[in-house]
Amino acid sequence: MKINLLFLMLLCCLNHPGYSGEPGIPNKVTTALADSVITIALTELTGYDLLGEICKIGPRLSGSEQSIKAIMFAKQKMELMGFDSVWLQKTMVPHWERGNVEQALLTTRGRKNYKLSIAALGGSVATSKSGLSAEVVEISSYDELKARATEIKGKIVFYNVPFDHSLVNTFAGYGIAVRYRSTGAIEAARYGAVAAILRSITTRNDNTPHVGMIRYDTTITKIPYVAIGIQDAELLSQRIKSDPQSKVNLKLNCKINPDAESYNLICEIKGSRYPNEIVVVSGHFDSWDQGEGAHDDAAGCVQSLEALSIIKKLNIKPSRTIRCIFYMNEENGVRGARTYADYAQAASEIHYAAIESDRGAFTPRGFSVDSDSLTIVYMQKWLPLLKRTGIEWISKGGSGVDISFLKNTRALIGYVPDDQRYFDYHHSANDVFSEVNPREFALGSSAITLLALLISEEGLD
Ligand SMILES: [Zn+2]
Repeated sequence: MKINLLFLMLLCCLNHPGYSGEPGIPNKVTTALADSVITIALTELTGYDLLGEICKIGPRLSGSEQSIKAIMFAKQKMELMGFDSVWLQKTMVPHWERGNVEQALLTTRGRKNYKLSIAALGGSVATSKSGLSAEVVEISSYDELKARATEIKGKIVFYNVPFDHSLVNTFAGYGIAVRYRSTGAIEAARYGAVAAILRSITTRNDNTPHVGMIRYDTTITKIPYVAIGIQDAELLSQRIKSDPQSKVNLKLNCKINPDAESYNLICEIKGSRYPNEIVVVSGHFDSWDQGEGAHDDAAGCVQSLEALSIIKKLNIKPSRTIRCIFYMNEENGVRGARTYADYAQAASEIHYAAIESDRGAFTPRGFSVDSDSLTIVYMQKWLPLLKRTGIEWISKGGSGVDISFLKNTRALIGYVPDDQRYFDYHHSANDVFSEVNPREFALGSSAITLLALLISEEGLD
């Protein structure tokens, strides 16, 4: 009997190095435990397989039937994983539909008509059934738009602002170009434009339109706004230079429906010492309606879910509650994040820390932490362990859109993978499961798992 017990204990230690095995006693997050986490992530690839199944359902635009189907599918998967609880949190979301008419026909003197590769930007209004036809004014900045204000009336404004490839950090390039997407329709309509076209914000030289959220102003006419593939942006630019009377006929039948009921999807493993202290791991489950929303952001959701799944597989009882959230509607309204933050504010629980993965499933690089410098210095002592997953740094910075709504946490943390390819895929038909590398994805899962465990077991001071 004694020998058997000893043998079992030994086996347990061999299987789960560092695990105290006793609920209520903090687990030591050792290098051996870190390596177990990494081995499970890299060899079992259960998260990667689940990501494939989710992507097969199709894109998950807020309010769409597919988004609900995917939520219910993922909920069922969570329930099978045997966590302490799985639940849906209702939230109302905007419900914009692209429609099935999407055409931009370019007419240039002496040339054959040419169909431009375009896609309506998220939230755009439709054109009339027969569409609209107008000459195009190419604009390279808001300063230029202002300077040429008198030329804009009755025209289509074409924002041809290339991605700045000289910047090493692609998010910096995106940050510069994205303002033309978000406020481009407002600024063009201010001077009387009838529609607007945006050169896609992407690092890849292909002809796929990259979409995203746009804004309207209630005091300014809402005009249709589309993204154009960058090769056709070049072509359009040349055509209007050779024939300034070139026209584009634009037809869209996108539709803004009343708000729809949707859900954040949540599951958790209860903490054994501090059940009331929550460590959130999260991503957003909605996506744009092009591609499969694989990198953005089914990957971040599944990586977060893997943190719980790996902890469960290792039979670890975490000290703090580890809660996984699949937020709904990050892309066009952040309603899910607001709903959850309201709940968190009212709940008696303490939201101790939150991690979000929403920058694609690429090789781990770092964690960007929104907290005080003492906490960040404290976390940096975990680097030798996290380095085993490829994480190189922990620094002060922004976290994630959804978790940024949480108040009174000790730290809000953004998972930062390598960024060189993210904008090849972002918000486009390129963002599909086959473009996710299983090893890079799994390394991200293990980095997030380890950080969640470190916070849960060691706290942040
Ligand atoms: Zn995203």
